[in-house]
This record gives sequence, structure tokens and C-alpha cells, in this order.
Amino acid sequence: MRDADLVLVDAEIHTMDPEHPLAKGIAFGGGRILGVGTNAQAEKWAGRTTEIIELGRKVVVPGFIDAHAHLMESAARVSNLDLGGCVSLAAAVETLRRGVARAGPQGWLVADDWDESRWPEGRYLTRNDLDRVSDTIPIAAVRVDRHMASVNSVALRVLQIPLGTRGFEATASGAPTGVLKEDALERMWDALWPAPERLAAGFETVAGRALSLGITTVHDVVGHDEIRAYQIARAAGALPLRANLLARDALLPHLAAVGLMRGFGDEWLRLGGVKVFSDGSLGARTAALEEPYADDPLERGMLIHPPIELRNILAGISAAGLPSAVHAIGDRAIEVVIESIESLAIDPGARHRIEHAELLHPEQITRMARLGIVASCQPNFVGNWSLPGGLYERRLGPERNALNNPYREILRRGVALAFGSDGMPYGPLEGIHWSVNAPFQGQRLTVDQAMSAYTLGGASAGFEEGAKGSLVSGGVADAVVLDGNPWQAPEHIRTMRVSATILSGRIAKGNLASSR
Ligand SMILES: [Zn+2]
Repeated sequence: MRDADLVLVDAEIHTMDPEHPLAKGIAFGGGRILGVGTNAQAEKWAGRTTEIIELGRKVVVPGFIDAHAHLMESAARVSNLDLGGCVSLAAAVETLRRGVARAGPQGWLVADDWDESRWPEGRYLTRNDLDRVSDTIPIAAVRVDRHMASVNSVALRVLQIPLGTRGFEATASGAPTGVLKEDALERMWDALWPAPERLAAGFETVAGRALSLGITTVHDVVGHDEIRAYQIARAAGALPLRANLLARDALLPHLAAVGLMRGFGDEWLRLGGVKVFSDGSLGARTAALEEPYADDPLERGMLIHPPIELRNILAGISAAGLPSAVHAIGDRAIEVVIESIESLAIDPGARHRIEHAELLHPEQITRMARLGIVASCQPNFVGNWSLPGGLYERRLGPERNALNNPYREILRRGVALAFGSDGMPYGPLEGIHWSVNAPFQGQRLTVDQAMSAYTLGGASAGFEEGAKGSLVSGGVADAVVLDGNPWQAPEHIRTMRVSATILSGRIAKGNLASSR
């Protein structure tokens, strides 16, 4: 019997193991959980070198799994300008003006996270706004949903995107508005994206932030550059957290040609599935709806792929031995995904997933349950946009808005639920807060259900429920010590902090007082 490296006692441990939901002590050693149960059951693993920490009833939960992240991509933004805190369009323009002085190495000024739904002006940033910031430096300002960017005239000259490219917005007279979506946006990223070495260099910063929020595993959406960056980061030392990779669908032919199936890799870095887009976002009115947008009666959004094309893509992913993770937000897009999986008669054990699954009808949930489709949802979206009077109510009207993000219905009808953030922003406690304190009945979860969706839910979506997502003997030693008790003060969860994050049995972030 080996000695533990770290033993926690006098804790309130919520294991997420339905057999033994509560415990007081836990022992970690060699990167695994050696034992969990009473204080005595944990302390029996202690040896001469073991660190024993009394937690004074602090709450311990499994390490959070963010099942929809863009963490390596966000390493590209470490030095970008942040417009997330700007309270108006005018303030955003002012922030950009001050940022012009620190334009990046390629001479671009890139800014992130503007959100016109919080601005009194209530409109998108445009080329005209950005031309007032600079007529010499190319500027790209990316909207918070990352499905849209606004650029200035200099940037348009550099990018040379042909008029008529899908998503290249222009006025009736043909003048570009500077708003780029879909294919036009892809063209912009092709020109701007940093090399894998730079991504890997920025990863420590973003992974450090994620760890301080209690995240120990991400299901990370990646392309070629991010996959390389992960390997570069790992070769340079231990990865700061674990990643389950969701490869963009452009890589599918290559993954299939090599024969890489789900699970390739190990507990730190592994292949999880293939990410496909089927529509856009509600904010950009590109999410595909059955009925028109409430605030634009001529608009129903867009399907990225015609139904037959999507079906063929999903057939290819399935044949390659990989789960698909299909971005579908509007009820029309969700319907097309469900129909595709129905018609392909895919094994329900394959755990294909719908990412976001926001506007979801009860009857669709029942079909998802039958097909074994996982709902991969972001409860922070509820707090961001679905509150009464918020963006979703404007886009959908009050009646349809009450249907959005129906987590309680998803669980009640037997669909597996995995929570993540989509990085908007990262923060499991923020997401758990909004699912517990959601405005609509059909959204509201218990603390246990929400906590499980942010731990076991992601583990199960990644086929790792034996090793991750619950604190059981033999599992990986990833855990979070909370400052505050969500079960005792559920209405204050979002104000609670993480005291310490334990990764592979070591305190990777934060500190724990009262050692003995
Ligand atoms: Zn995403």
C-alpha cells in the first residue's frame, strides 16, 4: 500500500458518486484517488511524507469539466484588447482609440468581446465607427459570440475579401459595412491567426486562469494549429490541465485516413470527437429557426449545411469511429441534426452530441433521449442573454424565449447533460449559478444536478466517467475546494470563489490554510 501525497480531512465532500454522495476525507497519491470516505478511511493512507490538511467543513467537489471550450484558441487572444467591459458603443470606440498605440506584431489591432445587446446604442460596430479610430492601422473587433467581427477600411484593403463572399455584409449600394460573418470571417482568421508556437506560449496564461476557476479538463475545439500547440505545450513540460480535443470538421478526412478514433491519447490529451457547425447564433440572427425572428420577421437564420450534406458529414464522422459534436442553436438546426442521426441509425452508445441545443422543443428532447444524443449546454448563456428583457427575449419573443435552454426537461426526459461555457466567459460556478437560479421553470436545476452536469456530465460525454467527474477510489486526483457552500446558499453561487484546485493530486492553484 503506497503512502498518500495529500490527504484532506474534515471536509464536506460531494463526490458525485450516486452510491456514496457525501464523504469527509479523501486521500490522493500517484495522481489517483486512493480512498474517500470518513476521516479515518482517508487518514489510513497517510505516511511520513503525506501532507494532511484539515478543511474545516469546506466543500470539495470533483474537478470541473468544461465540456465546450475554446481554450487553446483563446491563447491567441492573450494580448488582444478586451471590449467585454464596455458599457456603450462610444466607450468601445474610446477603448479602441487608446489601444491603437499597442497594435500587435503584424500591425493589427485585434479586440474581443463587444456585445451591442448591452449598449444603449443597441447596434453593431461598423466600418465607419472603426475608421474613426484609425485610418492607418488595420482593426478587427470580434463580437462576444465570435460569429461576427467588424473591421475598418484599412483591414478590408489588407484582407481583399471579394464582394459576394458569404457573410460579407454590404449596404444596398454595395458599400461594405465592415461586418464579417461566416466565410468572410474565416478569411479574416486565415490572415490573422498566430502560429502554433505562439499559441503554446500563451496557453499557460489562459490555462492558469481556467485552473483558478476550478477547471481541470476542457473539451476543447481545435484545428490543426491548436492540435500542434497542445503537443508543443506538452513536450515543453506537463500540460497545466487536461484536454479532450474536438477537432474541427475540416480535419475529418485526415483523421479518418490515419485511422484515429475517439480516445486516442491518454488522460491528459486525447481525441474526443469532431466539431461541426449546423447554424450560427441568436445574437447574430444566424441561428436557424422554424419561425422567423421576433425582431426581424423576414429572417429565420441559416443552415450552414443543407440537410443532406450535414447527414453525409455525420455519416463520415460516425464511420471514422468518432462522436460528432454538432453546433445547433435554433430549433430548425436542432431538427436537422436529430433527423440526420435518426436516418443514419447510429448506435445510441456512440454519444453524439448537440452543442448549445438552445431552442429545444419537448418532443425533440424525447427523440434525443432515444438516440442517446448528449446535450452539451452553456448555462452562463442563461445569465448572459435569456433573462426577461434580455437579448433572447427580443430575438425570440417572450413565448419562445420560455423554451430556451430547458435543462430540467432535458434531464427529466433522460438526456445526458454536459455543461460548459463556450468561454463566454469561463466559470463553472457562474454557469451552475444560472442553471440553479434560472428565470424559467424548465431551465431550473437542483445544485446536485447542476454540479453533476459540470463534472460527471462532461466526463460521460468524453467516455471518461470511470476515471473523471466523480471522486471515487481509483479515479484521477482532480478536485476543487470551494470558498462558500452552494448547497447552503444556492442564490449566491456566482459570488463564491475557488479556494484551491487539485490536479493529479497536487495543489495546482490557490492554497489551503490550516495544515497540520
Ligand atoms: Zn463554441
